[in-house]
Amino acid sequence: MNTHTSCLIIGSGPAGYTAAIYAARADLKPIMLTGLQPGGQLTITTEVENYPGYPEGTQGPEMMEDFRKQALRFGTDIRYQLASKVDFSKRPFTVTVDDKYDITADTVIISTGASAKWLGLPSEQTFNGYGVSACAVCDGFFYKGQNVAIVGGGDTAAEEASYLAKLCTKVTMLVRKDELRASKAMQHRVFNTPNIEVLFNHDTLEIVGEQTVNGVVVRDNKTDKTYTLDVTGFFVAIGHKPNTDIFKDWLDLDETGYIKTVLGSTNTNIPGVFAAGDAQDKIYRQAVTAAGSGCMAALDAERWLTEQGH
Ligand code: NDP
Repeated sequence: MNTHTSCLIIGSGPAGYTAAIYAARADLKPIMLTGLQPGGQLTITTEVENYPGYPEGTQGPEMMEDFRKQALRFGTDIRYQLASKVDFSKRPFTVTVDDKYDITADTVIISTGASAKWLGLPSEQTFNGYGVSACAVCDGFFYKGQNVAIVGGGDTAAEEASYLAKLCTKVTMLVRKDELRASKAMQHRVFNTPNIEVLFNHDTLEIVGEQTVNGVVVRDNKTDKTYTLDVTGFFVAIGHKPNTDIFKDWLDLDETGYIKTVLGSTNTNIPGVFAAGDAQDKIYRQAVTAAGSGCMAALDAERWLTEQGH
């Protein structure tokens, strides 16, 4: 097993795979550590209709499988393992894998993406997997013919509510403000789905049940009334947090944990370490922008290696 590479890619979403395709074709012989969710967030979504090149749309998991095959075709060494620790204090950089062995790397491309956020209620964790989920596409099937609630008012919540509405009898969307943050197209879809009800100005106070969820206690902030919704499933869709904890001792992060890169490049504050995709992008967060920045990171890494005389 190689323990040194000129280019180590951490993370396997659109950014990571695109970086791998470019780095492998540039003969950098990249190693990729996929992390715990190979393929990233797109593997837990359904239809992707806005990725150029798929005129009829495609499924997220299928698209990521195509990305993976393309990265393999050019010789990427893909390892289904987790980067557990990094040491960027000296070159080559050291990355510990699964707490078991180290890889040294002349350049590192970070494409670790982002993960779903939780409300932070103790009952949310108690019932996680027993009626509470952060992925409608993964778990919606279990609530076929039942009533469910989903919290959040962004595109994710709107998309997941629409997905659930196809399976469930009724979907209640709990939105804390008096408006949705979702795009107009998604709002239109939500408001035109008869079995989705949107409750504005509502907070989630508690998830209740015995072995599994049988209700959600909510407060209507307009009337100050607290009541229980009869639902058997509760979905959380309130945004994401970048997966950057292991880098915080080395890299400049913004106040919400996104890696700071130099404008117009994927350079971080450490020469030879580059960041791409959702780990450094809180504005666009699209598969196509992630892929674009993955390409940039591989080109930046290649140029940097040339400048260093590799
Ligand atoms: P967003 O950050 O866009 O939205 C999060 C939503 O959750 C907001 O309505 C927010 O409310 C609400 N929220 C946050 N915290 C809480 C809380 N503690 N309690 C209750 N509600 C809360 O995240 P998304 O995941 O929806 O979207 C992320 C990005 O991905 C966006 O740029 C989006 O456009 C994009 N996206 C695009 C899709 C597509 O094009 N098909 C599909 C999915 C996502 P508030 O508004 O009050 O802050």
